Amino acid sequence: MSDNLSVVICGYKGRMGQTLLAMAESENATVVSQKDMGDSLCDGLDGAQAAIDFSFHSATVELVETCSEKGIAVVIGTTGHTEEEKQRILACTQKIPVVWAGNYSIGVNLLFHLTETAARVLGDRYQPEIMEIHHQHKKDAPSGTAINLAEALEAAPAFNESNRVFGREGDTGARTNEEIGVHALRGGEVIGEHTVFYFGENDRIELTHRASNRSIFASGAYRAAHWAAKQAPGLYNMRDVLGLTQTDQEEV
Ligand code: NAD
Repeated sequence: MSDNLSVVICGYKGRMGQTLLAMAESENATVVSQKDMGDSLCDGLDGAQAAIDFSFHSATVELVETCSEKGIAVVIGTTGHTEEEKQRILACTQKIPVVWAGNYSIGVNLLFHLTETAARVLGDRYQPEIMEIHHQHKKDAPSGTAINLAEALEAAPAFNESNRVFGREGDTGARTNEEIGVHALRGGEVIGEHTVFYFGENDRIELTHRASNRSIFASGAYRAAHWAAKQAPGLYNMRDVLGLTQTDQEEV
């Protein structure tokens, strides 16, 4: 069990913020300050070892810049930053450790790693297809995680971005070995499911992650905060946190 961690939660009134507050004790963290819209992001941070931010992209910049002055590690959960915001955040990584990930689920990050590893091992002898399922309310498709899975496949020499095929309809012609099929299903209240299929001539491999609730993101964010508080200044992602950085780049 890691030492207790003093944290600041930014965006605490939101869905993720409330989940983070509810899980603090079980994640071995003490919330020394909680912030939301209208609060000063500069006050009350003394004594904190890490800040976890699931507020809004524009607030993230102010929080990270304040933390860089105070030497506090930051875990960035927000998405949708502008180019200027990204540059200002990156500048702070000279002074403090920052973990920045589009998805904090430990299981999904493991799925990225396994997807890439399988693609390297299987090469173009297997044909990959990605399928994601989300609830009926989701307004965009495919999911960002499905795109990240395509990127994981594209780390293998056999595949690249120009070969993504989103859904299939009509006179598509035969499937080529280079294609990465991406398919979105919508219905019910499914929180999020992602499967990568590798179709071979004589067998089929399937890697699946199924989310049950958003506590998986909060749990991953706490793990990132515990880890970040002990790191040197720099920019890190969840692969670094989980020790999943690919070292064997050779295709079999
Ligand atoms: P939410 O809308 O429920 O909560 C956001 C909270 O931030 C609200 O309480 C809001 O009042 C607060 N907020 C907004 N502007 C603020 C400001 N200027 N200063 C301080 N607080 C401010 O949203 P959510 O579902 O909890 O998601 C929050 C963010 O986290 C989004 O950007 C979402 O995309 C992202 N997210 C990321 C992951 C991941 O794994 N990286 C997972 C879930 C959500």
